[in-house]
Amino acid sequence: MNGQKFPVMECFGPTIQGEGALAGQRSHFIRFGGCDYRCTWCDSMHAVDPDLVKLNAKWLLPNEIRQELETIQATGGHSNWVTLTGGNPVMWDLSQVVECLQDLPSPSRKANGLGWYINVETQGSEWRDWLKNVEQVTCSPKGPSSGMSDKFSWGKLDKFVKELTRSSSPSTLALKIVIFNEDDLIFAKNIHETYPHVDMYLSVGTDLSWYDYPDGGEKMRGWVGARYSWLAEEVLKDNTFYDVTVFPQLHVLMWPNEKTGR
Ligand code: SF4
Repeated sequence: MNGQKFPVMECFGPTIQGEGALAGQRSHFIRFGGCDYRCTWCDSMHAVDPDLVKLNAKWLLPNEIRQELETIQATGGHSNWVTLTGGNPVMWDLSQVVECLQDLPSPSRKANGLGWYINVETQGSEWRDWLKNVEQVTCSPKGPSSGMSDKFSWGKLDKFVKELTRSSSPSTLALKIVIFNEDDLIFAKNIHETYPHVDMYLSVGTDLSWYDYPDGGEKMRGWVGARYSWLAEEVLKDNTFYDVTVFPQLHVLMWPNEKTGR
């Protein structure tokens, strides 16, 4: 019990969630190392590259992860949410971590400012039963611009959607697709037509080259704003998208040029 350690790359917050169903809300983040994908535009390679994970991960027990959160909460402020991200956190059996973070009953957690509701961010390439025990799952299948089309599986996404949309599941599922180009939009459209009952969020992709652009904060904001206008226009042209939510990556607007959390 609680004997397994997990590779934690960073633990930070509270900050503002930049994407998906919780966009704009305060959240703490725990970033786990390891990912089965290598997306061309990944902005979290420090949690993906096995050499970097080996070099930089802190291997922590579930109760040590909770202690890290309690420390940053004591010094940085409260959030009702903690987001388990990566990498792909679903590579790991995090059931003990989830239990450890949820070990106070929800109403008491919220009323007393203790404990957290849990959001998991994953691309949906693996299913784990512990996902049914968290409050929110944000599943982000990767479109053609990621270079990961050969890894995408309708069968795996189907399993994800079926498990998390059963009436008995306490978890809420949201689908989030990062859009760089027209091919990504077609990919998102196919997914939305297949699962119209699942909330979909479209997120403007951010070109990685901006992170290295010297003093490029304002220019980066301008570029993201222009891409947001483009995506909004595209979505308005197509009635399939009548009920999707369209966002830029809010953290890029708030803190341009910063890849990792604050
Ligand atoms: S799935 Fe996510 S973490 Fe993994 S390589 Fe792609 S963008 Fe990066």
